[in-house]
Amino acid sequence: MTIQLPGKVKFIIDTLSHAGYEAYAVGGCVRDSMLGRIPGDWDITTSASPEQVKQLFPRTVDTGIQHGTVTVLEGKESFEVTTYRIDGEYEDQRHPKEVTFTSNLLEDLKRRDFTINAMAYNETEGLIDAFGGMEDMQKKVIRCVGNPVDRFTEDALRMMRAVRFSAQLGFAIDRDTRAAISQLAPNLKNISAERIQTELVKLLISDHPEEMHTIYESGLSRVFFPEFDAMMRTPQNNRYHCYNVGEHSIVAMQNIPGEVVLRLTMLLHDVGKPVCKSVDQDGIYHFYGHPAQGAKMAKDILRRLKFDNDTISRVTALIAWHDDRPLLEEASVRRAIHRVGLEQYPALFAVKRADTLAKNQFRRKEKLGLIDKYEAFYHNIMEKKQCLTLKDLAINGKDLMGLGMKQGKEIGAALNRLLMHVLATPEDNTREILIDLIKTEQKVE
Ligand code: ATP
Ligand code: MG
Repeated sequence: MTIQLPGKVKFIIDTLSHAGYEAYAVGGCVRDSMLGRIPGDWDITTSASPEQVKQLFPRTVDTGIQHGTVTVLEGKESFEVTTYRIDGEYEDQRHPKEVTFTSNLLEDLKRRDFTINAMAYNETEGLIDAFGGMEDMQKKVIRCVGNPVDRFTEDALRMMRAVRFSAQLGFAIDRDTRAAISQLAPNLKNISAERIQTELVKLLISDHPEEMHTIYESGLSRVFFPEFDAMMRTPQNNRYHCYNVGEHSIVAMQNIPGEVVLRLTMLLHDVGKPVCKSVDQDGIYHFYGHPAQGAKMAKDILRRLKFDNDTISRVTALIAWHDDRPLLEEASVRRAIHRVGLEQYPALFAVKRADTLAKNQFRRKEKLGLIDKYEAFYHNIMEKKQCLTLKDLAINGKDLMGLGMKQGKEIGAALNRLLMHVLATPEDNTREILIDLIKTEQKVE
């Protein structure tokens, strides 16, 4: 088996070998190459110490020098070159207390999480596969290197990684590895929210977001996302649904492109339902107010998982309005665009379609038809380049100050009133008309 190494990777490996050191491409890039997937980044493992690596390459960054990692810059690209190491004892299931450098490649491969991630390659030696990585790749399984209970006890994040690799690659998790996850899931509490977020996002945007099932069944969600457990335990006894809240959300994710904001929105769009559930005298379930409640809860959850503010505001806006159904006439749609926010508004159609496709067949065609019509209204409005935000108004705060308004609050409120007016009557968005409107208001007062 050969792997086509990128020129720069080959150059780094050759430079190290000519200087008398061993060097290999390792981990994810070897795995992905063997699977015919395009590697995201190329990591290099070497017997050279960080100091020796730095002497050989003119442009380097000390990325994690205490762990043996130096980033080598080649043109605009960068490559992590890490010295062969043995991870010392792990403190609190998080970080190795200390790392020891070693001259033995196999020792370095042994510390890696899964067999498919523990292979190395260079052009002279070919593939180094000491733990059956190729075999597991053919069998499509995720299996720990060594004893899974020990490996997950060393670093609890590996449990999340197992599920996310399974989601990215469409592999099953080996029986013993899976059993160890169920056993040790509570240890995930020792892992930082940032590290959990990284793995969760990779899982959600993968081809198999339905692996959220495994996250639930193994007890992992209970630790970092108990709201999801509540969703999985909430049936929806009404004519629209055929799944419980959690399963409906998973199917909705499967019906939307693998993009972070979209997948998070579908994952969380009904997170408010367990709290909003009511049962009528016929035993039918209702979830009044769940979009607003869900937006509130999603904000807390996403904050807790350390998502950035932009992602949080987009996702929560889409959740708050996922059930919004304005009258299909232009003024109402313009107001809806304003409510939801111009930036995330177009995503709302994908959200509504995914939500519909995750329900039963009841009136499905009709509902999809309405979404198409709604979207057509949106495109029509956008083509006309009408005013949809405060920025598009023909006057601004300064103009209002010129008319005698002083306080920011007063000016803000007046601008909003004008925007509401213009959303209803776009042709009024001229300086003269808007100034007249304000003057009339002032006279009435
Ligand atoms: P991706 O394509 O998502 O980057 P990757 O396999 O390259 O996948 P990284 O997180 O970049 O994953 O890690 C690079 C390599 O380092 C892995 O392939 C694995 O060999 C090793 N590794 C990373 N994290 C751990 C961990 N928590 N425990 C053991 N080994 C790990
Ligand atoms: Mg990687």
